[in-house]
Amino acid sequence: MVSKAVAALVFAVLVCSQHAVQGVNVVSKAEWGGRAPNYRVALGNYLNYAIIHHTAGNYCETRAACAQQLRNIQSYHMDSLGWPDIGYNFLIGGDGAVYEGRGWNSMGAHAAEWNSVSIGISFLGNFNWDTLEPNMIASAQGLLNDAVNRGQLSSGYVLYGHRQVSATECPGTHIWNEIRGWSHWKA
Ligand SMILES: [Zn+2]
Repeated sequence: MVSKAVAALVFAVLVCSQHAVQGVNVVSKAEWGGRAPNYRVALGNYLNYAIIHHTAGNYCETRAACAQQLRNIQSYHMDSLGWPDIGYNFLIGGDGAVYEGRGWNSMGAHAAEWNSVSIGISFLGNFNWDTLEPNMIASAQGLLNDAVNRGQLSSGYVLYGHRQVSATECPGTHIWNEIRGWSHWKA
């Protein structure tokens, strides 16, 4: 009886700890029908920057529509721009889901000069007119928390909008107004 109780306790601890480290759910590239990268460049740990983007393309509200957008963007980045993969590390849809781009530990192509020292997160849509929903904001913040918990970002990382590091209007007015209220954002 004692060993059963111990086993149950161990099981409960394992389940709880797995739940605690699981964090935000990420839709894998395989799930959205993405292509494997042509090659990967390793990205370091304890990075000091996270850079927020918008895709400046279509907004999407369903898994199917977002998956189609992701495939279009990946094809553009790989076939037209000649990049080894979709540019961003992660993307967030109007459905509130986080989608895997280059993912963890893989250097992106999203902000010239900053790719090796940051992770790039992009919202699907053009946020000069599209608006952020609360579940999209929660997903972005959950993803950033996960990045710190897994050691990809340093705990004191700085969050920038793309326009702060390059001559661009990215990430669009509405995202720009939102992220300036986030705790890690710096002027
Ligand atoms: Zn951008």
